[in-house]
Amino acid sequence: MDAGLSLRETCRRLASIGEDPARLDAILITHEHSDHVAGLARLAKKLDIPVYISRLTAPAIDWLGHSPKLERFQAGAALAIGDIEIDSFTIPHDAIDPVGFCFRAQGVKFGLATDLGYVTDSIRFHLRGAHLLLLESNHDLDMLKVGPYPWSVKQRVMSRVGHLSNEGASDFILQDFERGAVALILGHLSEHNNHPEIARTSASRALESRGLDTRLVIAQQKQPTEVFEF
Ligand SMILES: [Zn+2]
Ligand SMILES: [Zn+2]
Repeated sequence: MDAGLSLRETCRRLASIGEDPARLDAILITHEHSDHVAGLARLAKKLDIPVYISRLTAPAIDWLGHSPKLERFQAGAALAIGDIEIDSFTIPHDAIDPVGFCFRAQGVKFGLATDLGYVTDSIRFHLRGAHLLLLESNHDLDMLKVGPYPWSVKQRVMSRVGHLSNEGASDFILQDFERGAVALILGHLSEHNNHPEIARTSASRALESRGLDTRLVIAQQKQPTEVFEF
């Protein structure tokens, strides 16, 4: 899902977990922001595999003169790739037609939702029953307010089509997080307006107040997370 890293870095990270990029079946795209598609055109060209992308998002990508196999879908559509069933769902974010995904295979459900201004009822519905969840925990509100961004950017990040704060992630944990989930991964942390330990503390408190001892993992930008096996 997504291809924000360079082709080289994507291949390097796959190799580091013993995966051969040539064995990938498809690439799925959430939205056209550069941190999600910067390596897409080259990756799609090199691997020559289909790119699943929303109908409205596809024209926003610079394919660098190459014409990859596009599988255009309507945001909200259900997809299937091999034995993986996939649901796409609309997320509130300042992109053309942004989506999140959940993946189901062999009785395991994995939900991913980053780049969302807030958690809508539809997102809640789609993430229900996830055994593994990657949720955005983008910024600490106080750090954002005193941080280096211009005011207009701060407003954008905080808006209903911006990014989910640590506080927003905690609210989700308090109200909606599934008791049966094996692990919660916090991701898409801002380098300038957050700190992994602040995000962790905020989410841990929320889990504790629910009496949950769910494993909490903080995804870092510079290194891959562990591999989750079920
Ligand atoms: Zn984005
Ligand atoms: Zn992003």
